[in-house]
Amino acid sequence: MKCTRCKAKAEVHLRAHNAGFCRPCYLEYFRRQVERAIARERMFTTEERLLVAVSGGKDSLALWDVLAELGYHTTGLYLGLGIGEYSDGSRAKVEAFAASRSLPLVVRSLSEEGPGLAVPDVATATRRAPCAACGAMKRHFFDAAAHEGDFDVLLTGHNLDDEAARLLGNVLRWQRDHLARQRPVLAPTHPKFVRKVKPLYLLSEYETAVYAFMRRIDYVVEECPNAEGATQLVYKDALNRLEAASPGTKLAFVKEFVRSAQPLFAERERDAPGDCQACGMPAYGALCSFCTLVREVEAKRARRAALAGLGV
Ligand code: SF4
Ligand SMILES: [Zn+2]
Ligand SMILES: [Zn+2]
Repeated sequence: MKCTRCKAKAEVHLRAHNAGFCRPCYLEYFRRQVERAIARERMFTTEERLLVAVSGGKDSLALWDVLAELGYHTTGLYLGLGIGEYSDGSRAKVEAFAASRSLPLVVRSLSEEGPGLAVPDVATATRRAPCAACGAMKRHFFDAAAHEGDFDVLLTGHNLDDEAARLLGNVLRWQRDHLARQRPVLAPTHPKFVRKVKPLYLLSEYETAVYAFMRRIDYVVEECPNAEGATQLVYKDALNRLEAASPGTKLAFVKEFVRSAQPLFAERERDAPGDCQACGMPAYGALCSFCTLVREVEAKRARRAALAGLGV
């Protein structure tokens, strides 16, 4: 196959777009796609300060790389989840990436926060699924870091496959509240929230992997051990089968949802949050979900310490 842009030998074939690209043209194509998403959805400007949540995986590092290349003011945010070797390895990749490009990086570690909040410990103490505990803590620390650092925008590397899987899950259960908030740009609904955006929402996992490979980005290849068996992977698998039978399905599913169906759900968005009585961050009840989680962990540890004191 020949490159769609310059007719040289193509290195990548994108069936969903019915196009092929040589290496330089692919990198150009990828950058243009990101730039277009930023412009079309009015995500941010070159004057704004961007906080990019980076996990060490290919998507978030590809996002940070492309934005830095395009001249945006970016800072990385890495949150150590305390998940054994996976967390140690991902932190090392993120730090090496930031150092090699002289990009500013903020590092926080859950095991050093509050009463010690490593994901496996919190999941055990609160009897929650690790991903539920992890999700609540990530949301809190991302929001808090963006607010404390006076950033204008918080960015995540969610790609088309992530968004399609999430959409399928939301549609299968008609989770209207979730559908109301599933869009590439979320405007802040509280003074301590910043705008949240997903510039890669129309680029597939394959496309970001190719970009990361061509740019020689050294990312963590292993998945988080808790990802195994996650429902999200079942949805991704189903979508991959649909995509193989009919290329472009995922793109149409997400793109058309955002364009025509999402605004109908957005009308029923819930009321703006109030302030958490404990930490002051946005909350829908007296406490935000993070502080609720921390209190559960503290209560559980106090009970255990009391029992240990009684020699039980
Ligand atoms: S798979 Fe679950 S525990 Fe692992 S990083 Fe993702 S949300 Fe967190
Ligand atoms: Zn070319
Ligand atoms: Zn709180």
